[in-house]
Amino acid sequence: MAWEQLGSERTRPFLIAALAIAAALATRSLFDVLLPSLPPFASFLAAAAFAAYYGGKRAGIIATLASAPLGWYLFLDPRFSFSKPNPIEAVRLGIFLLAGVGVTYLAARVRHTQLEAHNSRQRLTLALAAGGLGVWDWDIVNDQLVWGQGFDAVNGRTGHQTPRTFAAFLQLVHPDDRKRVEAAVLAALDQDAPYDVEFRTTWPDGSLHWASRRGTVVRDDSGRPVRMIGVGADITDRKKTEAALLENEAQLRRYNEQLEQFAYAAAHDLQEPLRSVSIYSELLMRRLGSSLDPQNLEFLNHVNGGARRMSTLVKDLLRYTTAVDQEADLAPVDCTAAAHRAIQELTPVISQTNTAIQIQPLPEVHAFEPHIVQLFQNLISNAMKYRSPHRPPEVRVWAERCGAEWVIAVADNGIGIHPDYHQRIFGVFKRLHRHDEIEGTGIGLAIAKRIVEHHGGRIWVESQEGSGACFRFTLRAPPPAPFQRY
Ligand code: ADP
Repeated sequence: MAWEQLGSERTRPFLIAALAIAAALATRSLFDVLLPSLPPFASFLAAAAFAAYYGGKRAGIIATLASAPLGWYLFLDPRFSFSKPNPIEAVRLGIFLLAGVGVTYLAARVRHTQLEAHNSRQRLTLALAAGGLGVWDWDIVNDQLVWGQGFDAVNGRTGHQTPRTFAAFLQLVHPDDRKRVEAAVLAALDQDAPYDVEFRTTWPDGSLHWASRRGTVVRDDSGRPVRMIGVGADITDRKKTEAALLENEAQLRRYNEQLEQFAYAAAHDLQEPLRSVSIYSELLMRRLGSSLDPQNLEFLNHVNGGARRMSTLVKDLLRYTTAVDQEADLAPVDCTAAAHRAIQELTPVISQTNTAIQIQPLPEVHAFEPHIVQLFQNLISNAMKYRSPHRPPEVRVWAERCGAEWVIAVADNGIGIHPDYHQRIFGVFKRLHRHDEIEGTGIGLAIAKRIVEHHGGRIWVESQEGSGACFRFTLRAPPPAPFQRY
């Protein structure tokens, strides 16, 4: 019976106390005949305990207080009167009242503890079900495997099909994964390594599933492993999604490579005809220069200039397509050294523009060194190229740690960039200045972006027109110690 649903919140303690007293009265009356020597208040004590257990402390106290006059009237000599009991009976009544209060507190406490335990068991069961997890428990000493609630769905097995020993469990692991799983268990037992494995298993219906297991080893006082306990899940759906994602990624990479090869081939093949236009237009100018009228000479000049400019664009396109070396192995790169190498390459421009460059100590990153040198070169040369005519150029390079990444900043005090163009300037051949104002093709930042993204980072600019620009990019710190996963 659900005592918690009896009556309302206010009336429940009274109802439960009344029921408990009624039951106690009936029992006491029965014992009056069968066992007259039974102390008069014994069954009322049981009523107080019952009321407190099912109705809480209030019900227990009500049952105790209401039982006292009832017991006094009905069962204390002289019966059916409230006349003063003899001293022994009076002491019994007093003891009953005290014991009633004590039993009430005890019963209420027991109930509370039981409810707490029940609730936390329920919470655990719900959480495991929500996470698609099941609990397993391996008694290592007796080689007994126990699968907790919810594991049927994880194992795809019920009853006698469920493995009860470690050897039986291993038999269910796909033969190709068995050694790995066994090694993971041994590593957890012998070296206290975290037990975290994923393996394939065939369900009784013949379908192949992926499963995961994580666990902890429990040891006795001498450090001997006695028990392993953990959770497991069926991760087939996740594995399928991962495989699909990997396939998509590989396909994207293939398309990208094809596109790059196409751009490379186009740019490469375009160079030859462009060179011819450039050479022959120059030859024509040299041979006919004096005989041509000024307008025709200007036309020829345009042809030659256009061919040269297109040749530069094609070269830059080639530089862009070959900017990242897909095959290059990533290794720890000292960014301070890379930045100084970039500066060395730029020495003539630095002295020509009289730029003050400050490079603060930079971290090591996980990258390919020539790419990082190129990245610094592009950003620092831009910082000088887009200097302000009103102040001597200054460039500052520094780094800040942000989780597993480093954020490296290259800031200048140049002409700055209007926020409307902060995205656009990273596009291929995107520029904010005419070629005859400031030289360039708009490929430097596109290459910088490509390099950073190739290393899994991001690049962006913070700037206002007229007040300098700060380019920031993220790069991963080198991984710590080699990580082994079973
Ligand atoms: P390019 O310098 O050849 O034009 P980039 O791709 O390096 O090509 O730069 C694209 C555009 O971004 C530039 O045309 C310029 O307008 C702007 N820019 C790049 N760096 C800076 C800088 N440090 N300060 C101001 N503007 C910049």
